[in-house]
Amino acid sequence: MSRSIDVELVNIQKKFGDNVVVDSFNLQIEKGECISFLGPSGCGKTTTLNMIAGFLEPDQGDLLIKGKRMNGVPSNKRELGMVFQTYSLFPHMTIFENVAYGLKLRKVGKAEIAERVRKVLELVKLPHVADRYPKQLSGGQRQRIAIARALVTEPSLLLLDEPLSNLDAKLREELRDELKRLQQEIGVTTIFVTHDQEEALYLSNRIVVLDHGKVEQIGTPWDIYNRPASEFVHTFIGKSNRMPGTLLKSEGEQLLLRTEAGFTLQAPARGRTFTGNQPVSIYVRPEKIRLVVADTAAESANQVKGTVKLTSFLGAYTECEVEVGGDVLTVRIETGNEDAGLTAGSTVFLQWKSEDVFVFARKGNER
Ligand code: ATP
Repeated sequence: MSRSIDVELVNIQKKFGDNVVVDSFNLQIEKGECISFLGPSGCGKTTTLNMIAGFLEPDQGDLLIKGKRMNGVPSNKRELGMVFQTYSLFPHMTIFENVAYGLKLRKVGKAEIAERVRKVLELVKLPHVADRYPKQLSGGQRQRIAIARALVTEPSLLLLDEPLSNLDAKLREELRDELKRLQQEIGVTTIFVTHDQEEALYLSNRIVVLDHGKVEQIGTPWDIYNRPASEFVHTFIGKSNRMPGTLLKSEGEQLLLRTEAGFTLQAPARGRTFTGNQPVSIYVRPEKIRLVVADTAAESANQVKGTVKLTSFLGAYTECEVEVGGDVLTVRIETGNEDAGLTAGSTVFLQWKSEDVFVFARKGNER
């Protein structure tokens, strides 16, 4: 089956003054895909979305939607549905009128409008609020209506700019589930802008990780987490423990390393090239470390001795801070797997598999 490309960004660049805020952005989005733009504040997510929406024009490059070049085409001719961080409903209109607005502009007949609004309100599970005004709804309900209003016109592309960030934690999770269900049910091609890595992992078929206007990696959530293209991607997605160290030896894919605290570790090179005595940053994720409470055990490669500084029970897991030489490592232990002797001050051994270690080059003057 041939792939059907709905959206294509070809070498898109945007500058504000001399400041390049989006640089050489290339992306193809397949029909029905949900793609997240993920990155820290100021990395260019919203600017890119605004170019796709037609609120901004790129300085260079081409933007195609369903194969048609969209540069210079006004926003209202791009067949888009949009949901923003703020609810942006018209306060003086009822929910029915709010949702119907886009259809009225398109001169759809009254009976068809009534039917389509009814259907979409059912889809967002709010069929009973048509006669209310926005102020009579909760924040979560208002955002569902904003989603209904974006979907009612059957857009070819749904653009979501941090639609969950004004909601409290519980609602955020609920609406996140709802968005995933809707996106899969309708199959609408979606671009979702967020700085929340968990939301991006949860909702997306693929994630575009951005930093300072540059694409760092495009990949599935699994790839981004397990095969990060750079140190930035590894540390931006999920928590990871960093230990500065030096390369002792590299033999093909196998690296032998020493941390500045004096421990010897093994790690895979993951296709990267390292040279002798090179300063490196060594990472291992908290959930990949096994902790054993014991006074004596043999220290060996990827097994180090430390002292528990702090334990924090977080429901599904306990997080421990363990001092290992000069480094403090965070270890995550699933509830039910904790060792009875685990308290602050305990001597422990930490172990991990060499395949769970990530190594990135470090400049010599960087700690
Ligand atoms: P956030 O998560 O904080 O919204 P973002 O990744 O969406 O961040 P953008 O809003 O795309 O980032 O901004 C990217 C960069 O462009 C920032 O450095 C910002 O200050 C700058 N910028 C955005 N809009 C303008 C503008 N109209 N004029 C000048 N600079 C701008």
